[in-house]
Amino acid sequence: MAPTPERFAKIMRVLQKRQPTLTVLMDEVNKPHNLSAIVRTCDAVGVLEAHAVPPRGGKLAEFEGHTYEATSGSAHKWVRVNRHEDAISAVRALQGRGFQVLATHLSQRSVDYREPDYTRPTCVLLGAEKWGVSDAAAEAADANIVIPMFGMVQSLNVSVAAATILFEAQRQRLAAGMYAQPQLAPDALNALAFEWAYP
Ligand code: SAM
Repeated sequence: MAPTPERFAKIMRVLQKRQPTLTVLMDEVNKPHNLSAIVRTCDAVGVLEAHAVPPRGGKLAEFEGHTYEATSGSAHKWVRVNRHEDAISAVRALQGRGFQVLATHLSQRSVDYREPDYTRPTCVLLGAEKWGVSDAAAEAADANIVIPMFGMVQSLNVSVAAATILFEAQRQRLAAGMYAQPQLAPDALNALAFEWAYP
């Protein structure tokens, strides 16, 4: 069915603000409601596509299951999640595409999450609820970032951390005018508009 003119205009407005150079890599984030909350935030800040290493134990069904779809508020339809076998190869692949990978990880080289330049092609690496980001993946990353915390509890929920960092990226990109001009090439934008309009 053809979309209404209003629907098509909305699709175009959203695609004109998509940020193909901003993404996340979710390393074994295994709770569907966390995964879907992250994808929903991705949609809100304009992430074009996200990346994930599915949780160990092969719970791929959960990755695509009802909870994921219900909690994402349909965002999963608008943010494709690409799968990777493991975090290190995913980090390397994204670096090979020109992304700086920022691992959310406490280490000797960690910096405040507001320090990096998010106007550069950037991937935020998020860790599993139980283990966090592995030392090996954190070392492979270009930088390690942390959200400073002053409470009794040592870490935030992963979806809260993702939102905090992605909205800092949005703030910097807004200031740089990156939402004022389409970041997608015209051909890619038109192809996606067709895909979204005729699912
Ligand atoms: N026990 C884990 C650890 O030692 O890393 C805790 C993982 S935490 C619940 C899950 C994920 O949320 C982390 O891997 C990271 O991606 C993100 N996160 C939580 N608190 C954070 C913070 N203060 N700064 C940056 N990322 C954080």
